[in-house]
Amino acid sequence: MIDSSLLARLKAALPGDALVAGEGLAGRTEDWMHRQPMRSALLLRPASTGEVSAALALCHAAGQPVITHGGLTGLVHGADTAPTDVVLSLERMRRIESIDPLQRVAVVGAGVTLQQLQEAAEEQGLAFPLDLGARGSATLGGNASTNAGGNRVLRFGMTREMVLGLEAVLADGTVIPAMNRLIKNNSGYDLKQIFIGSEGTLGVITRLVLRLREKPARQDVAFAAVPGFDALAALLKHMDRSLGGGLSAFEVMWPEFYQLVTTPPARGRAPVPHGSPYYVLIESMGGDAAGDGERFQSAFEKAVQDGLVADAVVARSQAEIAAIWALRDDVLQTARWGLPFAFDVSLPIADMPAYVERVSSDLRARWPDVRAYVFGHMGDGNLHLVISPDGLPADARPAVERIVYAPLEQIGGAISAEHGIGLEKKAWLPISRSPAEIALMRTLKQALDPKGILNPGRVI
Ligand code: ZN
Repeated sequence: MIDSSLLARLKAALPGDALVAGEGLAGRTEDWMHRQPMRSALLLRPASTGEVSAALALCHAAGQPVITHGGLTGLVHGADTAPTDVVLSLERMRRIESIDPLQRVAVVGAGVTLQQLQEAAEEQGLAFPLDLGARGSATLGGNASTNAGGNRVLRFGMTREMVLGLEAVLADGTVIPAMNRLIKNNSGYDLKQIFIGSEGTLGVITRLVLRLREKPARQDVAFAAVPGFDALAALLKHMDRSLGGGLSAFEVMWPEFYQLVTTPPARGRAPVPHGSPYYVLIESMGGDAAGDGERFQSAFEKAVQDGLVADAVVARSQAEIAAIWALRDDVLQTARWGLPFAFDVSLPIADMPAYVERVSSDLRARWPDVRAYVFGHMGDGNLHLVISPDGLPADARPAVERIVYAPLEQIGGAISAEHGIGLEKKAWLPISRSPAEIALMRTLKQALDPKGILNPGRVI
């Protein structure tokens, strides 16, 4: 339970509607995927940076743990709570403050959803190129604090590359206004980077300055069956080279995933026949409405001639583009047999086939009927492995994690490409980070949050 004198001070410092407790918490969850009811007894919903600062100053003085909540679509148990935690939700800070079409920046509150900004930018002929399946609920503050990746990293980078500036509140309530609007600014330490990707353990992001791009005039999408991994790797290089910087997605599916999302009860239909070892969605975006289509078509024809592609379709309408993307986005099919174990590993492209083969054979050796699905952002070196729990013993998780993570150490892979560490992967961090790196993380944590009240237990 929350200390009663702290509660009284929070009530005095914040407007009445900023505190939610008791029955007001009914229906509140703390995780999109697991639908876990919120365990914390107190939710704070500040509407301004000043209120965030006041709340944190009081919690800091009382040594009160605070868990920050965004859209709750983070996937690594970063938003889990205990009855003794205070939850700080940024849900009321959801105002798009400005969009500047000349400077091409947006200033937003941390609680604005990704989709909200995507749509607002489009209305001005601009684009915010971050994109991921949870766009409707994921918040920009959450995207920044986890350095979210998604579908177009190959072209536009991760969230880090799109944040020009931000405002963050430290554990003790100190506001750090780092609302830089410039693309180039080497004036001393780039402090925003401390808060991006640190999963809310070093400060609470309250506002952001985000970089926008010109809205593409043309989008081309193809879906191809590929005869082997060498052809797949050659196809990636060929399309990137041929499209003159236009390649915006290269999303690979292993055959089990393709089968799953193109067979009932899934609603998707197979654009190319089954039976190939790899399938890939290729997307190009550019500013030349006529020329881009021709360039995409001829690059693709060359790939077919060179034998890099066994079978393919090029989408001829927005509806066909949407249908192809829907296959890639239909990840929930993997949850048909219970909540799956989801992994997001990074590794060098050349190591992918041997790695996937090793993980698959190690899983099958232990559990012959295991369902394992592999797909992901090959252009970024990022694969998603999703393993269904059916047919596995209830306590299989640690053994599955070992099978997935252990081989990454030798090949210089990462245990998280884009989802982050949260509570879920903390034990495996030494696979991806050296002891000296982890020690420096602890030094930073100690300097910025000496009482350890912000998202305690996450990351390190
Ligand atoms: Zn992903």
